Amino acid sequence: MNICVDCDRVILGPPEPVSGGESMSGAREATYAHPADSLDCRPLVPAKRIFRDELRGDRPARYR
Ligand SMILES: [Zn+2]
Repeated sequence: MNICVDCDRVILGPPEPVSGGESMSGAREATYAHPADSLDCRPLVPAKRIFRDELRGDRPARYR
């Protein structure tokens, strides 16, 4: 079972490996995120939510 690094939800579809992760502590052996076009990814952090919206090509909530 894979947990998305952006939204902390379970990834039901094929996960997307995150390269160059922030954590080098080795707490997690691998880091995954929802695919860029996944609608299941709804991060709680606003900045990450905007980032995901831009990945999907949606209109960002702000900054534009
Ligand atoms: Zn996600």
